[in-house]
Amino acid sequence: MGAGQAGLQLGIGLLAQGYGVTIVSNRTADQIAAGRVMSSQSMYDMAVGYERGLGLAMWDDECPPITGVHMRAGGSDGKLLIDWRSPMSAPGQSVDQRIKMPAWMAEFERRGGRLLIEDADLAALERYADESDLVVVSTGKGEIGKLFERDAERSVFDRPQRTISLTYVHDMKPRKDWSALNISINPGIGEYVNFPALTHTGPCDIINLECIPGGPMDRWDEVKTPAQHLELAVELIRTYFPWEAERCSNLRLTDDLGTLVGRITPTVRKVVGRLPSGRAVMGMADVLVLNDPITGQGSNNASKCAMVYLDAIARRGAAAFDEDWMKATFETYWDYAQWVARFTNTHLLPPPPQLLKVFAACGCNPKLAARIANAFDDPKGLAPWYYDEAEADRFLASFEVTA
Ligand SMILES: Cc1cc2nc3c(=O)[nH]c(=O)nc-3n(C[C@H](O)[C@H](O)[C@H](O)COP(=O)(O)OP(=O)(O)OC[C@H]3O[C@@H](n4cnc5c(N)ncnc54)[C@H](O)[C@@H]3O)c2cc1C
Repeated sequence: MGAGQAGLQLGIGLLAQGYGVTIVSNRTADQIAAGRVMSSQSMYDMAVGYERGLGLAMWDDECPPITGVHMRAGGSDGKLLIDWRSPMSAPGQSVDQRIKMPAWMAEFERRGGRLLIEDADLAALERYADESDLVVVSTGKGEIGKLFERDAERSVFDRPQRTISLTYVHDMKPRKDWSALNISINPGIGEYVNFPALTHTGPCDIINLECIPGGPMDRWDEVKTPAQHLELAVELIRTYFPWEAERCSNLRLTDDLGTLVGRITPTVRKVVGRLPSGRAVMGMADVLVLNDPITGQGSNNASKCAMVYLDAIARRGAAAFDEDWMKATFETYWDYAQWVARFTNTHLLPPPPQLLKVFAACGCNPKLAARIANAFDDPKGLAPWYYDEAEADRFLASFEVTA
């Protein structure tokens, strides 16, 4: 269920291994292509590498690279408390899902997959569960999403931590060094994240404003038109991230559907969904581990989850895809995804003392800065020092010695 990053990557991967695969999408490829932007979908080396392995990274030559990370934190007066930058070991990229998903849907069919257009409900799930060895659900919306119980122990929040606004633009002034994942933090107010991307009209930039609910950046209810959306985005950057204002002095929207406003409650859910008949279906990616986009991890997670599931399905051989197998497969994915959730949730809260120390040290230690920059590709290696002051002190001391 669902023709997004997770469902299509898994489906196409299964076709290559000789499985019969049906993907159900509530929208046609044309509707997705002509629709509103859905994400900012920055993806890094490991996740894009999985796409390359399946012959799905079709935009390597066209998509502008995201070469490194530049993190700054400061107040509205423009004074910076944190300012470090580092190239990543390998570039990332962001291909508008309005381009990628229609192309992958066509590729799925070309490789022999069955693509059905249907707004699937519980009755449809029952039907597919009846005729299939395994039903994987990669859409958490509507009544289908309710099948998957919230995991109270693993879910840190019970409400959205940001109002999120996306703006796809042309004519942002390029950085003077290299193209970057630009992260700007105004503590207590919000974050501005920007990077280059590829959209229908060519290379562009994406503005992702993360606004603390009820705070001075949370003004998106005022917006009625695309032009007002762009105007507010630029005003917020000028006011709260003045060090980025000059790059945004002459922006235009890529298209009238290149804007999005939403809120996400970061949530972890249990993998088995029980249908009214008692049959079990299996959740994946965003359905099970839903993160705020502040660290840009969801599409990366979807790619990684698809590969874990692909491997587990192939290794299962002819045995049944029962609930124990579903739970074990999710635990393999959670072994990685928990670190993404921890990394992301940490950035939604006021920075703990050890992070201020780590980020300050990044400014004068390029190897440390590179370590953090590469964590956007794989956040697992940040534990335990990123999350614990004593560990951070030990880590920084040893790092200084060996750096
Ligand atoms: C504002 C924003 C910015 C983001 N930025 C980034 C980023 O920079 N980097 C990053 O890695 N991630 C980012 N993400 C997250 C990322 O977009 C998601 O994690 C990723 O798209 C999840 O993929 P998925 O396949 O699990 O689900 P989805 O992409 O949600 O795909 C589900 C599919 O199922 C279809 N569907 C829905 N309901 C039904 C139904 N009833 N029947 C059939 N089909 C159905 C939908 O149309 C959709 O195509 C961002 C998300 C948001 C909201």
